Amino acid sequence: MDYFTHRGGVLHCEDVPLSKIADAVGTPVYVYSSATMIRHADVLRRSLEPLPDPLIAYAVKANPNAAVLRTLGAQGLGADVVSGGEYRRAIAAGIAPHKIVFSGVGKTADEMALALEGGLFQFNLESVEEAEMLSEVATRIGREAPIGFRVNPDVVAGTHAKISTGGAENKFGVPYADTHAAYRRAAELPGLRVQGVAVHIGSQLTSLAPLEAAFVKVGSLIGELRAAGHAISVADLGGGLGIPYNAELPSPPSPEDYGAMVRRIASEWDVRLVFEPGRLIVGNAGVLLTRVIRVKPGSTHPFVVVDAAMNDLMRPALYDAWHSIEAVAPHGGRVTANVVGPVCETGDTFAMGREMDSVAPGDLVIFRTAGAYAAAMSSTYNSRPLTPEVLVNGAEWAVVRKRIDIDRLIAADAVPEWLASAQA
Ligand SMILES: *Cc1c(COP(=O)(O)O)cnc(C)c1O
Repeated sequence: MDYFTHRGGVLHCEDVPLSKIADAVGTPVYVYSSATMIRHADVLRRSLEPLPDPLIAYAVKANPNAAVLRTLGAQGLGADVVSGGEYRRAIAAGIAPHKIVFSGVGKTADEMALALEGGLFQFNLESVEEAEMLSEVATRIGREAPIGFRVNPDVVAGTHAKISTGGAENKFGVPYADTHAAYRRAAELPGLRVQGVAVHIGSQLTSLAPLEAAFVKVGSLIGELRAAGHAISVADLGGGLGIPYNAELPSPPSPEDYGAMVRRIASEWDVRLVFEPGRLIVGNAGVLLTRVIRVKPGSTHPFVVVDAAMNDLMRPALYDAWHSIEAVAPHGGRVTANVVGPVCETGDTFAMGREMDSVAPGDLVIFRTAGAYAAAMSSTYNSRPLTPEVLVNGAEWAVVRKRIDIDRLIAADAVPEWLASAQA
């Protein structure tokens, strides 16, 4: 469910015609719907009732824009951060430290110190070595670090290999067989307060079965850890629930089904539950708005060349991701086309042999479901400006990230002295 709908033949985001944004800001541009994000946060929250006071820590990496974080923070969401930069973004957006979870496999001593000084709900640690480093940092600055270990439950997530994280071969978490030793070691280390267990098995999961298998393992672990004398009061169940990208495929499980499963598995655990949804909250709250540059004949299908490229939206090149492609003001005809960007890489292909609205040069087109892992991964490859972002709220809209133009990119480079006077 989202708020991108046709009105009078023109696709709108809430009450704003996308053509108006394209004319004012230029293309390509990301456009986000506040109402859609708020709705998703609300649906998830309601699906978890009546669990007592779950912490919904939005996974900042999905979309770290300051205006997005403020929108979600105002809904009471916390933040799951995976770097010092994300921690600082969450704090800058007004998210309370006691709602921040710090995840990630390679936290540095500086990042640990930053979060300890500013405060946080919990570090999710991924190894004994990391616990040892955190103990040193916490002792040095005189703070106690609340921790849980991220357990690798060795389940097959059934999603794209590049976003599977819960298999024994993946870099993430403490191997299930080693968890007792890890907790034993952490309990001996000064400066750490052992309080939680965490799990996150992957992203864009389209079945509840692997999540349930992982949560069942977490449940047994909680019992075993308590029996071994650890005071476990938190279970962080991660994120990962998939969203529909392609209307022709079966829909992933709904947040309601997910919530019912969690309640069934976890209601007797006697812990505070934490959730780290990213894609579920922002995925279909965004579109990438682009303009057709030209239509070029091809040997099988015509190539529709748009002014967005893999640097703006990397998911198709990175994960073979499927995004729905639609005209903002369809003329009525249909065509089968290859949709590509201008970047000099064959991977800069959004879709091959796609049946879509027929389009002509100058027409506006959207890639749907581009609110998560989209602008967040954009780059300036091929010396293309960094894509701007717009947030819509009813009839209001605002640029929430300016286009970072070529002048600024050139200015960020520096020419060393020995080249400054070099002439051809
Ligand atoms: C990426 C990530 C998430 C969010 O995943 P989604 O699929 O976007 O819900 C949550 N927790 C951790 C540790 C992550 O790395």
